[in-house]
Amino acid sequence: MASIIPLLTEFEKGHISERQPLPERYLGLSDAEMDARIAAARAQLAGRLVILGHHYQRDEVIKFADYTGDSFRLARQIATRPEADYIVFCGVHFMAESADVLAAPHQQVILPDLTAGCSMSDMAAPDQLESCWEELTQMGIPGVVPVTYINSAASIKAFVGERGGSVCTSSNAAATFRWAFARGERVLFLPDQHLGRNTAYTMGIPLADMVVWDPDEIFGGLDPDQVLRARMILWKGLCSVHERFTVPQIDAVRRQHPGIRVIVHPEVAWDVVQAADASGSTEYILKTVRNSPPGSVWAVGTEVHLVNRLANELAPERTVMSLDRFGCLCSTMFRISPNHLLWILEELVDGRVHNRVRVPDAQKHWTRVALDRMLSTS
Ligand code: SF4
Repeated sequence: MASIIPLLTEFEKGHISERQPLPERYLGLSDAEMDARIAAARAQLAGRLVILGHHYQRDEVIKFADYTGDSFRLARQIATRPEADYIVFCGVHFMAESADVLAAPHQQVILPDLTAGCSMSDMAAPDQLESCWEELTQMGIPGVVPVTYINSAASIKAFVGERGGSVCTSSNAAATFRWAFARGERVLFLPDQHLGRNTAYTMGIPLADMVVWDPDEIFGGLDPDQVLRARMILWKGLCSVHERFTVPQIDAVRRQHPGIRVIVHPEVAWDVVQAADASGSTEYILKTVRNSPPGSVWAVGTEVHLVNRLANELAPERTVMSLDRFGCLCSTMFRISPNHLLWILEELVDGRVHNRVRVPDAQKHWTRVALDRMLSTS
């Protein structure tokens, strides 16, 4: 089947989001100097600037954010600041793309370092999704509603939106699956197999009704009968950070801290969710742990910056630790350094925009349709 949405070549992608590296003069600055200069530039841009910070962002950066949150919460903030000319997104690339699509035409979205990507998002390429869709048709599989996690490229969101599907986040995945099942017999969910499996299982769909589609195999490595029996077709993708959490870690932490409660993000594997006491989005994790009784002890299975901040916030009344004793760091999120933030802001003060993220016009309409379906499903 021919693509309805023009796909970009690597050159075109580079042309639209052209990366400019950090100038050398922004290296080797002291923390105190960076703090003072970021604060000064931010003050000069007041009213024209909004800084969004994802929960996984490092402390030295997120302290300058006007709004913090998960992808869903930050996407919702865009509409609340129409007066801002610049949206500086301290997160990763797919988040900035969504912001660009949801922003007003006069607003420019900036990702301080364009190399801040997401390994999960990279596991679903537009040509792979096109092949998958075409092969499902060849296999004679009816009633497939595509749903993509917000952790995917705008080109994937546009493809899904154009074919009657939606975007979801970990906060509203179950609601989105219910929305999809009202429109079809089965859901093709990408790119995170774990979020798809964990959410569907919680909704009462047995594992036997789920298959994993391997985009590197012809027909996903499946035969038509397997897919016809399935209600969930799960893309073979995952988060390289959350896959590090394991059941043996839970067993160990329970032995070391009798009475401890374990809470994990649904991007972890199914058996880890089953062994934990609770699972949910980052917003759910924050709310649950903050509202727990004084004296509670928690092991948290998500990115380490969120866990450490929560631990500092709630100490000494509650004890919070990472489920992985070495901590799980999102290394791409970590690329947004205070040096990059300082450079971006000082250049904006001088009227220069660097590292702007722009979704091509050809993809904007259907990406917006898919994102609007997400924002109206909760
Ligand atoms: S934590 Fe995982 S899913 Fe989230 S941005 Fe990092 S690599 Fe992507």
